Amino acid sequence: MKSKEILKQMKPYKPGKQIEEVKREYGLDKIVKLASNENPFGFSPQVKQQLPDLLAQLEKYPDGYAATLREKVASFLNVEEEQLIFGNGSDEVVQIICRTFLEPGVNTIMATPTFPQYRHNALIEGAEVREVPVIEGHHNLEEMLQQVDEYTRVIWLCTPNNPTGVHITKSALNHFMEKCPSHVLVVIDEAYYEYVETEDVFDSIHGLQKHENLMVLRTFSKAYGLAGLRVGYGVANRTVIHSLEPAREPFNTSTIAQAAAIIALDDQSFIDETTGENRSNKQDLFAFLNENKLDYYESEANFVLIHLPISGDDMFEHLLSKGFIVRSGEALGIPNSIRLTIGKKEDMALLQQEMKQKLEGHLK
Ligand SMILES: *Cc1c(COP(=O)(O)O)cnc(C)c1O
Repeated sequence: MKSKEILKQMKPYKPGKQIEEVKREYGLDKIVKLASNENPFGFSPQVKQQLPDLLAQLEKYPDGYAATLREKVASFLNVEEEQLIFGNGSDEVVQIICRTFLEPGVNTIMATPTFPQYRHNALIEGAEVREVPVIEGHHNLEEMLQQVDEYTRVIWLCTPNNPTGVHITKSALNHFMEKCPSHVLVVIDEAYYEYVETEDVFDSIHGLQKHENLMVLRTFSKAYGLAGLRVGYGVANRTVIHSLEPAREPFNTSTIAQAAAIIALDDQSFIDETTGENRSNKQDLFAFLNENKLDYYESEANFVLIHLPISGDDMFEHLLSKGFIVRSGEALGIPNSIRLTIGKKEDMALLQQEMKQKLEGHLK
């Protein structure tokens, strides 16, 4: 048997440590997972309440077009239903975009470090991947434009960027869209959209009216807390969606995921409360980091990339032994750092103590 050459050089995605795994290894009762930017407050209680109803008719295939969810999201965003494509998480929408637009002989441009799935799926399609290093956590948009040629098919902009947490400003993105040639699809991944506090953001959904070559990705996995159900979506102009549809699996979002997403979207008070709590806990963390003169990026998301005077792996191991799962920067391409999802207030307080203890003697 012979698999594709490119796959032999690639590694499967390495997820953050699993809770049960750490419990067993370290003999701990309580584990706080702050590694995958999940919502520490769970998901809308409305979803839980209505869960029994969601279990009806599991013998039937889901509605492949996700008509009810489609109607809901279209009206929520004030776009046409034909402007949407749903995926088994926005991860799958990334895959569909790559299947549609990328092949050997063309190229795609992205920041580094950024969300790894753009690169991963592009490589599988045989496209050339052009990675432009971030500057202080920010996309280097000028250099990304410089890299465009007639063979460029897709540019990925992740805002706020995972793993740095910083966002692209309104004027920077406006300028970028003006300058970017129209043969290039610009995908703006807004997985952390609901967390963004600053007003200085590009109105991407509105931007679709002006830019035929724009696509926006959103997800129910982060602020909506439904990562386990796998549902995300893309918004673009009809022509883009039409070209994507043949590359989508016919039943790619489950009945339960569609139904839960509808209920979750209706409960905006859950989003307001939990993103509010997130911001407050993030400010506390910033205060702690400032106090201890630890460097970090000003995150607009629900996670923070913290620079350390020691290796990220060391801090990761230390926190793991205390029951906190975080992401080591070494694994994300930023040595001597960790990426930390903002958790509950009481957990964050304990975590800060543990960090401080580990850094004893290293702090300025
Ligand atoms: C988590 C994340 C996603 C993927 O979310 P799913 O909808 O769960 O697939 C996409 N983009 C970024 C930047 C993310 O951090």
